Amino acid sequence: MQLSFVQKLLVLTILPLLIAQFGTLFGVMTTAQNEVRATAMNELQIAANVADQYLASRADRLQQAAQVLSADYALKEVLAFSDLESVRSALANHGERIEADFTAFVDLDSEDERPVASDPNIESGLQSYVLERIEISDAMPEAATVFLDDKVYQIFSAPVRAPTTIGYLVFGIHVGDAVASSLAMLTGMEVAVLRNEQNATTFAVTTVAGTEIDEWTHDLTQKRGEVYSTYQQKSEYLAVATELLEADSQVLLVLRKSIAEAFEPYLRARDSMLGAGLVTLTVVGLLGVWLARGIAQPIKQLTGVASKIAEGSYDAEITSVSGDEVGRLAGALQTMQSAIAERETKIVHQTLHDRLTGLPNGEQLNAAIAKSLRIPRKNFSLVCLQLSDLQRIFSMIGQQAAEEFMLSLRDFLLRKLPSDAVLFRTGTHEFFVLVSECEAEQAATLMAGVGNDLRTGVKYHNKNLLLRTSAGIAAFPQHGESRDVLIRRAKIAAADAEAAEHTAQIFEEGREEVFERHLAIANELPLAIERGEIQVHYQPKIAIGSRRVHGAEALVRWTHKDFGFMSPEEFIPIAEHTGTIFQLTQYVLDQSMATLSRLREQGHQLCMGINVSARDLIEEGLVAYIEYCLTVHNLEPSCLILEVTETSIMEDLDVATATLEKLRSMGIRTAIDDFGTGQSSMAQLQNLPLDELKVDKSFVMPMATDPSCETLVTATIQLAHKLGMTVVAEGVEDDYALTRLEAYGCEVAQGYYFNKALPEAAFTQWVATFDPQAFWSTDQQSSIDVNTG
Ligand code: C2E
Ligand code: MG
Ligand code: MG
Repeated sequence: MQLSFVQKLLVLTILPLLIAQFGTLFGVMTTAQNEVRATAMNELQIAANVADQYLASRADRLQQAAQVLSADYALKEVLAFSDLESVRSALANHGERIEADFTAFVDLDSEDERPVASDPNIESGLQSYVLERIEISDAMPEAATVFLDDKVYQIFSAPVRAPTTIGYLVFGIHVGDAVASSLAMLTGMEVAVLRNEQNATTFAVTTVAGTEIDEWTHDLTQKRGEVYSTYQQKSEYLAVATELLEADSQVLLVLRKSIAEAFEPYLRARDSMLGAGLVTLTVVGLLGVWLARGIAQPIKQLTGVASKIAEGSYDAEITSVSGDEVGRLAGALQTMQSAIAERETKIVHQTLHDRLTGLPNGEQLNAAIAKSLRIPRKNFSLVCLQLSDLQRIFSMIGQQAAEEFMLSLRDFLLRKLPSDAVLFRTGTHEFFVLVSECEAEQAATLMAGVGNDLRTGVKYHNKNLLLRTSAGIAAFPQHGESRDVLIRRAKIAAADAEAAEHTAQIFEEGREEVFERHLAIANELPLAIERGEIQVHYQPKIAIGSRRVHGAEALVRWTHKDFGFMSPEEFIPIAEHTGTIFQLTQYVLDQSMATLSRLREQGHQLCMGINVSARDLIEEGLVAYIEYCLTVHNLEPSCLILEVTETSIMEDLDVATATLEKLRSMGIRTAIDDFGTGQSSMAQLQNLPLDELKVDKSFVMPMATDPSCETLVTATIQLAHKLGMTVVAEGVEDDYALTRLEAYGCEVAQGYYFNKALPEAAFTQWVATFDPQAFWSTDQQSSIDVNTG
């Protein structure tokens, strides 16, 4: 059973008191009972003595009277000479004087010793006694107790001499009500005189009417003069029995005292004590309840408050203001309540807002779109704004400054956007704008303006930081009627805008499928690399001057289980975008160097061209990884050519230049790939650490048909040579191009004219069986050789 606090406190206060009170009462009552018994026993003993003395003194008096009277001459004369009636009258007179109940004269000379008595009724009884006594002892006893006329008498006798004994003068006192009452008064006990004859006991007299014999005796085997217990209706009495004077143990005087009565004052005292105890208990109980309530009530209130806090409600008021422990507890709870409330508000705010900018976050965007969708017939536009080169700015200004810059950017955007547009930050590089009652075209115009402003720069600490952004727009209901569709399509449009380098682009039908394919590619690429599902193929590079195989370019191939063969031109940009490119580059480096090592072991002293992306160039581990691969595959650095596109160098010119320089210092050769497709000029190239220039296939392939391409290629070769670079022509598809390139001094040719990229085995086979005559007529032999470094 679970006791409440109040119940426990009550038990604690009342129980000890109850035990103490009852313990005391029990002790007192037990002592009192023993005391009462002892006192009663004592009193009974005393009473027995008093009764004895009383009876003895009466007996003495009467005996003396009997002796005096027996010597009385006048009486003797009356006894000797008067008639019976005169004798009776004289005896009665003398008896009255000494308060005897009868007076008798036993004439020894008379016939049958028949006595003459003042009360004739006892005469025959007395005669029997006298005869019996005289027969036994030839004389009358001085005192005795006898039954006469069914009554108990104490008799006292004295011989009447003239001069010889002529008879006896006998006085009798009835041991009856008067004696019993006197004894009762004298001793303060209940009195009974019992006759015990022929195993039957009867009352001679008693001061307590209506009692039974066994209520007095209980057990007559008790020793005379000793106190014993007897019971009347289960109530105990103490009694003492004495034999009446000179009786033949057939007459007993029993004195009795009720223990219950003796105990009565103690019982009253006990009742008073119980009453007082009850009052004390009630008072203590009430005080206990008051005290317990005083503690329990505030605790109950505090418990209620704590439960409310647990339920997430923090407005419960705590009214207890006492200065005690409970009060302090209440104070602590109140502090805790407000602290939790404050923290929860903060947490709720944090879950709904971007930590850095304080702008509403993705959660709120979802809610806001859902809310806008619920407003009937209200169109709106959702804009996904992606910051393309934020990473570049961050690495330029450092993390802390980047955070400050984000705040400037937030303020910039808030200033530029209309007041009814809501700005959300949903990712490190991503914002969303919800513009109500706005068509897609209006939103596109708005965002193009914002994007253009950002391209001109955001002010930050006296600096003007240029920022490229791509905004994708999906409008409701035009591009979707559900939140998820609208968000997805705005993101797709933003990705398309980024790819197309537009500041803003409206979602186009059909882009979703492309995007999903990109998403699948992005997700599966890392696993495909790990599982070796990506192969590296090798496209031959031919040294034009020596007409020998110069080396190969490693080109990745991925045959996807669903999409089939995929061009690297599709998945490489995705890998670059999602950050898996370095993993892929590492894989290609390792695979292609392993192949190169095997080719070299077979006696083919070739070089390997490997493509690296802009992102690889800023990867810290790139140089170390190349070093590691060179060691593992036991290769000279000079047989490696790393191909970098113009655009990837330009993305982060400083870092790219530093990396390329590091590689060159190790002895690795560097090449600029796809030259002619970017915006860079020869003037910019001259400061870059490059060994080789690869003329883009878009200029080489049409050489046979487009003279302007040939002019461009010729000029490029000459300029490259002037800058100290060797030239590789990509996309050599026919012998015309080869012949022209040879004539202009181009060192290396690569193209389908020789072969496409082949798996390692096929490539090895191709190298082993390479025959220049299959590509050159003998008279075309050039004197120019290639500088292979
Ligand atoms: P790229 O580095 O300029 O590679 C040359 C591309 O031109 C290859 O296309 C090659 O197959 C193609 N090609 C060579 N000769 C001819 C020809 O005579 N005619 C025609 N029409 N095409 C020719 P591919 O393999 O599709 O690669 C496309 C681009 O993908 C590469 O251009 C390169 O930028 C990128 N790429 C390929 N593999 C890797 C790689 O491992 N890492 C990186 N970062 N990029 C790679
Ligand atoms: Mg290349
Ligand atoms: Mg190329």
